[in-house]
Amino acid sequence: MIPFLDLAKVNAQYQQELKNACSRVIDTGWYIMGKELEAFETEFADYCGVKFAIGVANGLDALTLTLRAWKELGKLKAGDEVIVPANTYIASILAITENDLVPVLVEPNIDTYNLCPTIVEKAITRKTKAILPVHLYGLISPMPELIKLADEYNLLVLEDCAQSHGAKINGKKCGSWGDAAGFSFYPGKNLGALGDAGAITTNDENLARAIKALRNYGSHEKYKNIYQGVNSRLDEIQAAMLRVKLSYLDIETDQRRVLANKYKNEIVNAKIRLPSWNNDEEHAFHLFVILCDERDELQKYLEDNEIQSLIHYPVAPHKQQAYEKFNSLSLPVTENIQNCILSLPISSLLSVDQANHIIKVINDF
Ligand SMILES: *Cc1c(COP(=O)(O)O)cnc(C)c1O
Repeated sequence: MIPFLDLAKVNAQYQQELKNACSRVIDTGWYIMGKELEAFETEFADYCGVKFAIGVANGLDALTLTLRAWKELGKLKAGDEVIVPANTYIASILAITENDLVPVLVEPNIDTYNLCPTIVEKAITRKTKAILPVHLYGLISPMPELIKLADEYNLLVLEDCAQSHGAKINGKKCGSWGDAAGFSFYPGKNLGALGDAGAITTNDENLARAIKALRNYGSHEKYKNIYQGVNSRLDEIQAAMLRVKLSYLDIETDQRRVLANKYKNEIVNAKIRLPSWNNDEEHAFHLFVILCDERDELQKYLEDNEIQSLIHYPVAPHKQQAYEKFNSLSLPVTENIQNCILSLPISSLLSVDQANHIIKVINDF
């Protein structure tokens, strides 16, 4: 079986370095909010081209705490509307509703799966205060156009970069376009810890300061609490793992890009619609998602041919039981996407032989 993603194999490449980093932390006797986190935050901020990175417990918290900080700073208030793509992972929406903000779900561009500036502009009302573009599957959203809209209508922009580490447009990386961005380092993400982790990136010093307090019980100074904060810290061990993995991120992304181009050039079955992108720099290829009207048959057929594939995501957030109030919304583009998408293996370790096998099997479907 060709697995969708063999994480043990991915991390085995760096096993010695990871173990050394782990031992280094164990030996210090300092496991939370220490030198590894500080170093990772500096290195990740540099990587993204921003002034500040703030480590938190996971990607959902990165988004939630940013919106929360904007509320604390008086830039958002309960009831404000946030425009967000309807076809995203539910975490993007949870961060909004957790803060008593109102998600305005808009249809994506069918070719990119991402926000379309024209549709976003039509959704703007007097209550709109923010846009939350999700760089889904690793493809950066049309940020120059979205930033222009945000400037024009005085909106905040929070990028969801959970799937797009390193993707850039016009040479500028995701995570540096918006007022802030949330990253996930869930183990299966392009930059993955060996457990849960996340980060916020921003150039706004006040925002960075507020988030640093919020992640630590609302406190900058021990026993002095200025907000009703939470406990959402990035552990020293995970920060140390991430420092190792960050140094290989661009190499792994390049391997994903080679594979994506191979799929794009060699999959020629008329039943399959391939993803589109302008240039490799814009796409980090967290996922390689194809469309097929006979998706369920295709997935079964791939499985019969020893190829594991997954669906990201089979049910859109507005169709979930958790969001009953949105169940009746009509979002046909999003719903159609859910029924036709299929994610092919695109791990940095997939061999040419495995890729050739996948391509041949798909072309014979
Ligand atoms: C993974 C993911 C998140 C949440 O990240 P966690 O670290 O799992 O909390 C948020 N948004 C998107 C688009 C994701 O893919």
